Amino acid sequence: MKKFLTAAMAVMTALSLGACASSAAKSGGTESAKDASSESAGEAKAEGSYAGKTLIMATNAEFPPYEYHEGKDIVGIDVEIAKAVAEQMGAKFEVSDMAFDAIISAVDSGKADFGAAGMTVTEDRKKNVDFSDTYATSVQSVIVPENSDIKSIDDLKGKKIGVQQGTTGDIYATKDYGKDAIQPFPKGVDAVLALGAGKVDAVIIDGNTAKAFVADQKGLKLLDSAYAEEEYAICVKKGNTELRDGINAALKELKASGKLDEIVAKYIKAD
Ligand code: GLN
Repeated sequence: MKKFLTAAMAVMTALSLGACASSAAKSGGTESAKDASSESAGEAKAEGSYAGKTLIMATNAEFPPYEYHEGKDIVGIDVEIAKAVAEQMGAKFEVSDMAFDAIISAVDSGKADFGAAGMTVTEDRKKNVDFSDTYATSVQSVIVPENSDIKSIDDLKGKKIGVQQGTTGDIYATKDYGKDAIQPFPKGVDAVLALGAGKVDAVIIDGNTAKAFVADQKGLKLLDSAYAEEEYAICVKKGNTELRDGINAALKELKASGKLDEIVAKYIKAD
């Protein structure tokens, strides 16, 4: 997954963090993310500070450009932002890869400290986890074959729609078009492959990820208008205000220093 397009969606990723940053959040003694130890998440939470502890990020590394496999590594915008947040907090950093719909329970049970997975803030999810400040805006986009008779969102009625299981694309489309119209896939890329094979008529998935998939597979295009607009944030265990506040302070600092924009620009190229 090498190519990530282009201008419009890069703009959509405009970061919506608070403008003012406290330089007090700067951390002197940061640890390298490579030196991550296997200390438990529970130990980290027992401490008043996260310095020297390991923060485990739950994600689903099937979601370019936010998290995906590159050789043996898991890379992407969320991985780099979360690593920078952990460094800012003086913590070590580990990534734990799992199904997207396992992330919230991993965070809730303490298997992971936080979830960073292009995760949209929704009222339903807020019942189970707390969210950081948002770090990106996004859209749900519609992918169709180049020769499709689906020209706009209105034409989706009566069509078979592929989605990634448990995502907002799945949740919204099921609500709008009914369960029978929706074909959920464990990975977004499987939905896109099914679209290429003519097994579904359209795929609804996050905009930047849609662009990455379309760039990788011939014969597909995006509809011009978005199906939904949303915001991404990092989730933590409900009530863990200490971690959420630490993440928010670090995000503000990364925004103020330009590091966040730098990370986004590395993965979403305007060309
Ligand atoms: N933004 C979507 C959601 O939160 C999809 C995220 C993902 O597939 N990683 O449901």
